[in-house]
Parts: sequence; structure tokens; C-alpha cells
Amino acid sequence: MAARRIGVMGGTFDPIHHGHLVAASEVQYRFNLDEVIFVPTGQPWQKVDRIVSKAEDRYLMTVIATASNPVFSVSRVDIDRGGQTYTVDTLRDLRAEYPDDDLFFITGADALEQILTWRNADELFTFAHFIGVTRPGYHLDDNHLPKGKVSLVEVTAMAISSTACRERVLHGEPVWYLVPDGVVRYIDKRHLYRRLSVR
Ligand code: ATP
Ligand code: MG
Repeated sequence: MAARRIGVMGGTFDPIHHGHLVAASEVQYRFNLDEVIFVPTGQPWQKVDRIVSKAEDRYLMTVIATASNPVFSVSRVDIDRGGQTYTVDTLRDLRAEYPDDDLFFITGADALEQILTWRNADELFTFAHFIGVTRPGYHLDDNHLPKGKVSLVEVTAMAISSTACRERVLHGEPVWYLVPDGVVRYIDKRHLYRRLSVR
């Protein structure tokens, strides 16, 4: 069987919003991907600057948001490994799961900047091709990107962040149409983001 082209979209997804979904959908179309796998991060051992919602809640919101798209799926690799997630571990595990397929790691401009400063940045590129997508408020240029390893894609600007969604819920403001309907309902059902630890 020919190698499949698989997109990998890692994130905290606390909560998943339409910026994530538009970026994944656009890359899926432009790169002719057979599938895009969303990978919610594991639960950090210690909070860095805020409390991250439970992995199961973030996982379920990701499933709810992606369920109706036949080429979107969700992986538990990072959640089941537990602890802080490093992209190199995500890609190593998915490479083992899909040894014959081509992996494309999809990341926003902000996350891409961080990834490139990591220690094992070189190893990362042996596991996947990287696709950087534009994100309002962040600058994306290919000056210091390794040649041929990263593609940049312009996606329709969605000035949405999970942080802004959490803050809106905290202040009793609506998040309708920023996140999928089922995610609005799930946030309400589980009383997520109602306490002051959302930042
Ligand atoms: P937070 O505000 O909590 O950091 P976030 O909105 O940045 O949340 P993450 O889960 O941190 O969401 O992001 C996962 C991936 O999606 C990252 O690669 C990030 O750059 C990308 N991303 C997030 N929001 C957008 C957006 N509006 N447009 C394009 N890419 C996005
Ligand atoms: Mg972020």
C-alpha cells in the first residue's frame, strides 16, 4: 500500500477552538493529507503558570469538535504517556505507530518558534515534515528555518485563542461560534473555566 500522508496537530486544546480547526482543515486540503490526527498534550506534573484542565476533559472536547469530519481523528498517545509533553516524544510514538507513512506536523507560528529553540530540534525533522501556519499576532518568516524541512502556509486569520475563550467563560461572556457548539455545551456541563486559574 502506498504511504499515507498524515497530519499531526498537537495542542493543549484547553479548549479546542475554530482557529485550530480551520488551520488543520486548510493544511489537510493544501497538502492533500489522508488524515489529520489531533493530539492533546499530557497533563503537566506541575503547573507552570496556570492550572490546565484535566486531560480527559481536553481529550473529550477534541473528540466532540472533530467527530463529524471523516479525515479528522484524535490520538491519546500524549495523554496516556502522561506528564509534560515534548513534541519529540509525540512524533517518535506516532512514527512507531505509522512506520510506513509520511508525517506532517502542523503548528502555529508561535509554537513553531518555540519548537525550533529546543534541544532536539534536529531529531524532530527526522520524524516529520513541519508545516507552520500563520496566526494573528505572531510573525512567521522562514529566515532561520532549516531549508526544506518546514513549509509555511497562510490560513484564513482566526484571532481566537484558548486563553481568550477561558477568560470569556470566566467573565460569563459567550464563546458561541468561537468553539464548536458541542464544546460550548461540554464547557458548561463540566463547569470548566469558571475559577480564577484560567490565565
Ligand atoms: P493557549 O491560549 O492556552 O496557549 P492556544 O489557542 O494557543 O491556547 P494551543 O492548544 O496552545 O492553543 O495551540 C495548539 C496549536 O494550534 C499551536 O500550534 C498553535 O500555534 C495553533 N493555534 C492555536 N490557535 C490558532 C489560531 N487561531 N490560528 C492558527 N493556529 C493556531
Ligand atoms: Mg498556545
